[in-house]
Amino acid sequence: KFQLSDRVNAIQPSPTLAVTQKAAELRSAGHDVIGLGVGEPDFDTPDFIKQAAIAAINAGKTKYTAVDGISELKQAVCDKLKRDNGLTYQADQVLVSAGGKHSIFNLLSAWLNPGDEVVIPAPYWVSYPDMVKLVGAEPVIVSGGIEQRYKITAEQLRETLTANTRLLFLNSPSNPSGTAYTKAELAALAEVLRDYPDVLIATDDMYEHILWSTEPFANIMMAAPDLQERTIILSGVSKAYAMTGWRIGYAAGPKALIAAMKKIQSQSTSNPASISQYAALAALEGDQSCITTMVSAFKQRHDYLVAALNDIDGIHCIAGDGTFYTFANIEGLMATVGINDDVDFCEKLLNEAKVALVPGSAFGAPGHCRLSFATDLATLESAVERIATFAKQYR
Ligand code: PLP
Repeated sequence: KFQLSDRVNAIQPSPTLAVTQKAAELRSAGHDVIGLGVGEPDFDTPDFIKQAAIAAINAGKTKYTAVDGISELKQAVCDKLKRDNGLTYQADQVLVSAGGKHSIFNLLSAWLNPGDEVVIPAPYWVSYPDMVKLVGAEPVIVSGGIEQRYKITAEQLRETLTANTRLLFLNSPSNPSGTAYTKAELAALAEVLRDYPDVLIATDDMYEHILWSTEPFANIMMAAPDLQERTIILSGVSKAYAMTGWRIGYAAGPKALIAAMKKIQSQSTSNPASISQYAALAALEGDQSCITTMVSAFKQRHDYLVAALNDIDGIHCIAGDGTFYTFANIEGLMATVGINDDVDFCEKLLNEAKVALVPGSAFGAPGHCRLSFATDLATLESAVERIATFAKQYR
């Protein structure tokens, strides 16, 4: 009989994609919908990166590569980690995969057994809990509220870790909150983690470059170098270089763990696309000013959007440190409208105001919604106007 696996039945499809789909349906029915649900830069991939891919095709670099990526790209990752983070890695500590999500999947597959606990601070990136469930392990959620700038404290971490904890996710700057941990906050978390030597730390640095806080970027190893032997960096070129479609991510960590992840990759996808690897190589080695240009646009939009949303009764959002998302608390507005579920609220907003947002529940933080500002200012202004008009109706 037709019976799907327990593994697939344990998980949900990505809710961000669900919103995008609903918005697409309304659009094809002729409605003018503004979508602020997307999680990718609106900029084009910089030209020098595209040219490197074209050159790779013309040079016949269109065959299988080493499973873990071409050696030049692995070296470029090591060079990047030295240059930007002051961290030393060898090429055999790096695995290149088909996007950041793939790196995470390889990690979870190589590290976790059924029943293992994985601590995930909320609000979290939507995919973490389901990816953890996919390998049979258990997500353990710990929430940092708005008053903590959506970050968890050292005390909370201590209360959450158990003898069964095998992994902790950290994502800073965070999708969806846009806030980043300071070096001092990371040092405090590290202090707790020293009492739990068997816990592996996964630092998802995907938004490292999309940052405008006064403090420079730091991950936990930069605050606590002694943790390097049990920390794995997860990152990639998708967000910083507007390369979401190229599918290149990478992991850097302990040699034995990287080797295990490579073994999984060797029996599943093999190498990521050869052409994309040459493009990623150009991105990491080339002129980094393309990032600055995009980040200053994101910052300008962020400043506008946060201020404009705070002008609407019942919406409250804090200034972020980076990324291209703002996470708004909408409990006040939900109460005025008479809806106590943020998913229902977002659906109503989509149907009535024709603005698509992602409900906070998708990120483990009900009473919120995530707005992406990876779109031009004029579109953001129209979206705000629609939300304000919607809110006024219920006053
Ligand atoms: N990590 C975080 C925090 C993300 O927001 C994303 C993408 O949305 C990823 C990882 C995965 O990125 P990729 O598109 O390279 O798979």
